[in-house]
Amino acid sequence: MDATEVLTNLAYRFTRFVSSLQLWDVLDILVIAYLIYRLLLLVRKTNTSRLLKGVLVVIVVLWLSEGRLRALNFVLRHVLDWGVVALLILFHPEIRRVLEQVGSSQLPFLQLFSKPQVDRQTIEDAISQTVLACGEMSKSRTGALIVFERKNQMDEILRSGTKLDAEVSSELLKNIFFVKAPMHDGAVIVREGRVLGAGCMLPLSRNVNLSRDLGMRHRAGIGMSENSDAVVVLVSEETGSISVAVGGMLKRHLMTETLEQLLRNELLPQQAEDEGQDGKKRKSLKSLLVKEKKDGESTDE
Ligand code: ATP
Ligand code: MG
Repeated sequence: MDATEVLTNLAYRFTRFVSSLQLWDVLDILVIAYLIYRLLLLVRKTNTSRLLKGVLVVIVVLWLSEGRLRALNFVLRHVLDWGVVALLILFHPEIRRVLEQVGSSQLPFLQLFSKPQVDRQTIEDAISQTVLACGEMSKSRTGALIVFERKNQMDEILRSGTKLDAEVSSELLKNIFFVKAPMHDGAVIVREGRVLGAGCMLPLSRNVNLSRDLGMRHRAGIGMSENSDAVVVLVSEETGSISVAVGGMLKRHLMTETLEQLLRNELLPQQAEDEGQDGKKRKSLKSLLVKEKKDGESTDE
């Protein structure tokens, strides 16, 4: 068979395949494509590309050994069977997180089951109380780690700490993080303007390029922001410096004014009527960050 014949054959098969496609087949392909996309994202996020390469090598060798190297084929087949179980156990936290993210995503039909939007005033109060507490904890060099949940739910993280259900207040936050208080270690989780837990364990960042002067608290804060869409506020016990982590990026050495604007921008629902105002706020926030950088205080990781 020459090249032209092969091409004609391929083109014929392709046309036949396309003409036989039905709506369900298209949906089928889209779902599989989405699952593969999520799997690749997971592989990239969890630095498992070497592991994936290993699995691919086993599959290729298994395929090549089919019908020829029987013993090798037998062993690899069993390795692959048990490997699937081993992968499920090894990646249980990651798989669980992806499923939780799918469950808490904004797909239109899933929104039918979601709760009504929280009152804007509750979030504004939570922000101003947090800023007040952070300003004071910064002065007294009290270490703090506060996670503001957004779309991705943190039920798994909440299980690692002590459950609470209280309004966010400066006094409560300072009490939790007071160095002799039993819950001062770990993170506070805030959902819809309420403190839902304290003393929670966060996943550490796997970023090897982080500055060496960042300890466990900051690595946990950055890790949380890499693994979810949460906004994480940190106060350093050593330096009193205030930082915010979003999407794996850390903005350090913030003034309370900048912290407040950053939190308002990230947490308050954007309203159509104050779009112009928000635009201005975003601009002024940017210039504040630039100003702080010029003063040699702010570093974006
Ligand atoms: P600081 O500037 O406040 O010293 P740091 O980034 O240098 O912060 P460490 O000095 O190592 O960090 O802070 C240790 C504290 O960080 C612990 O006492 C604990 O409260 C918190 N912490 C450490 N790991 C985690 C984690 N995985 N999840 C939540 N909190 C954590
Ligand atoms: Mg430290």
